[in-house]
Amino acid sequence: MEDFNKICITQVASTILSLLDVSPNEQMAQPVNEVLSAAQKKFGVNKCDRVVMYNPDAIAFWIYKKFYKKYLWQLDSNVDITLPMLSVFPPVTPVCFGSMYSGLQPSEHGIQSYTKPLLKCDTVFDRLIAAGKKAAIVSTAGDSISLIFLERKMDYFIYKTVKECNAKAAELIKKDEYDLIVLYNADYDYWMHRSSPTGLPAKNALRKNVAEYLELKKLIQAEWKDRHRTALAFAPDHGCHRVFGLLGTHGINEPCDMNTVHSWSFI
Ligand SMILES: [Zn+2]
Repeated sequence: MEDFNKICITQVASTILSLLDVSPNEQMAQPVNEVLSAAQKKFGVNKCDRVVMYNPDAIAFWIYKKFYKKYLWQLDSNVDITLPMLSVFPPVTPVCFGSMYSGLQPSEHGIQSYTKPLLKCDTVFDRLIAAGKKAAIVSTAGDSISLIFLERKMDYFIYKTVKECNAKAAELIKKDEYDLIVLYNADYDYWMHRSSPTGLPAKNALRKNVAEYLELKKLIQAEWKDRHRTALAFAPDHGCHRVFGLLGTHGINEPCDMNTVHSWSFI
């Protein structure tokens, strides 16, 4: 049986802030030192001036390992660091992204079940805005990331389709107006629930998630390499497991659902 991973997704919030040279608040979990060290190694400083977060939904650590030879090696050979990560309980989307971008455990930020209320606590977005920086969320309508961080002085690009989201993220990179861009992708989660975590539609979604990350990396290299130091993350929210031998779900306090994996490139 798999062990629980150690580095918690709550640590992502202060990692993003530290990279962008903005102080986290005292309640936020400590940054992931391995990520800051990897940035230091690449840039000579552990700071950068652009962060792009690609948030594919529900990619479990066991899925990463199972499909490493098929798809994930390609991601792994194109990033600077990959870290096994621990999600928060219950491992469902609004709870997890609430934690990832607030640096808080669910009992502290307040979303403790599958509900999508507006988060009132201090988040990465609030800290950046207070520091005079610009943030944008690009996501599909009705999804957690599109709802729980609303009503802040930042820009929200909410669309019906993944295709529109990806096109908008590419456009924002070309326009170069944001310090932080968050791009959400629900596809793996969608197909994992409706087919199985290892079924063909889910595998296709996983393959596309890797391809989309690599496209983002290529675009950032072309557009920003001479102008900026950029951190590009592949950062799922939680894992998943199979139920009734076929369909997929998540939400239990077991490594299958609690363990995920994050990768970072420094460009
Ligand atoms: Zn999710």
